[in-house]
Amino acid sequence: MKFYEISEDKAPRYTGNLNAGHTWSLPGVDWSQPCPTCRLGGGVGGLPHPCVDLSSLPEREKFHKPKPVPYEEYVRLRELVRPLLPLWAFLRPGASFGPVEGSGLGYFGQLFMQNPWTLFARREALERLQAAGVRGLQGCPIKVRFRTKHAPELLELQMELRGQFHPECLSPDRLPTCPTCDSNQNHLPKRILLDAASLPEHIDVFRFRDWPGCIIANERMVEAVMRLELDGVVFQEMEVR
Ligand SMILES: [Zn+2]
Repeated sequence: MKFYEISEDKAPRYTGNLNAGHTWSLPGVDWSQPCPTCRLGGGVGGLPHPCVDLSSLPEREKFHKPKPVPYEEYVRLRELVRPLLPLWAFLRPGASFGPVEGSGLGYFGQLFMQNPWTLFARREALERLQAAGVRGLQGCPIKVRFRTKHAPELLELQMELRGQFHPECLSPDRLPTCPTCDSNQNHLPKRILLDAASLPEHIDVFRFRDWPGCIIANERMVEAVMRLELDGVVFQEMEVR
């Protein structure tokens, strides 16, 4: 089975743009009161869970554009969210939830990426992919006002976190993951190799667990996209060992 990184088609006719962010997120960690083990603060982008709904949490307002908080408070808020997550999910400071809210403008393909870590599909494109048997795509409604005549009905896709780097592409002086907060201070490997044994067989598209900003499709998904002539994204084969 071949695997491909999905990225935006940069052809000039795709002028679509969303000025929108997810409804809720976990706060970053205040650098003055960081993780007690690794002394790291901050947060990550690129870990969206668009189908996870925090509206039932009494403290939901604390997840709306949150400011950085001390590490202990981050842990408390994180544990409020955890029961609402799918089993495959994990959390980091800055992880986001719920529909994107904002405005949209321009021409969107059948598939659309606002950035490398968010994948959207027009409703009809998602239905055609699912009818073609592509597994692993969950469509979540968005709250976007389109300032366009023929507004597309876009859904954001939530995908499972799966897969690991092959040990051979990892630097020998790599730092271990922090046992307290799970932070990882390492840079991306120069040459990325996917570990074949870690790649899922039950789904055809997923978010890469070791690098959540990357969305990966297998050849079943790529063939379906080509056959259905869905546009807006391009595929680059990845190395697998
Ligand atoms: Zn830590």
